[in-house]
Amino acid sequence: MSNECCNTVLSSEIDFPPIIVGDQLALDFINTIAAPKGEPIEWIGTGADFLDWLVVVEAITPSERELIDSKWALQEINEVASEAREIREWFRDIVIRIKDQGRGALMLSDIEKLNDLLSLEKIERYVEPGQNGEEIQLEARRLWTEPREILVPIVSAMAELLAEGDLNLTRECKNEPCTLWFYDRTKGHRRMWCSPAMCGNRAKVAAYRERQKAGQTDS
Ligand SMILES: [Zn+2]
Repeated sequence: MSNECCNTVLSSEIDFPPIIVGDQLALDFINTIAAPKGEPIEWIGTGADFLDWLVVVEAITPSERELIDSKWALQEINEVASEAREIREWFRDIVIRIKDQGRGALMLSDIEKLNDLLSLEKIERYVEPGQNGEEIQLEARRLWTEPREILVPIVSAMAELLAEGDLNLTRECKNEPCTLWFYDRTKGHRRMWCSPAMCGNRAKVAAYRERQKAGQTDS
């Protein structure tokens, strides 16, 4: 099954592993559509793909995934994935906007939408004995009362980025055609590439070719 539009292929069709370079869950989520080899690849094109991706990035556990699979029909999870794709593009637009104009560019409608999505979170807290029998641990788990709760880990990461993240460290890869975003957690904050192996190398090769060309015209 191909995506409705364009030449986008589903990651599951070509068995392409997710690109996890964002160092922040909401940015990795934005990166779930990308074109590392030229044609766009969609990592959350179906409900099953979306759940696979959430497990890979450890936003849900494999046992939570099993629970979700047993609770809801594939069609319902597909609908959530479709909403997730819409949320992804809405959030990408927000990130670009506030990078450009600051947090004041966040509209009231954005905040309302985010709060509506955050309100989907239903957790219960419980205590259980610790390993040595002496201590008591306070734990929390998601209740999974409706399929749209699958959106919660992503939406929480978006809210965290907007509320607590440093916009200067939220960056798009310097290699022009590359659309991958990342959060620069390096010590000197000089990270430029989604990955040194992918875009860093390409940039180095391009610069080398430029120098070669310049050398040829000089002589
Ligand atoms: Zn890149």
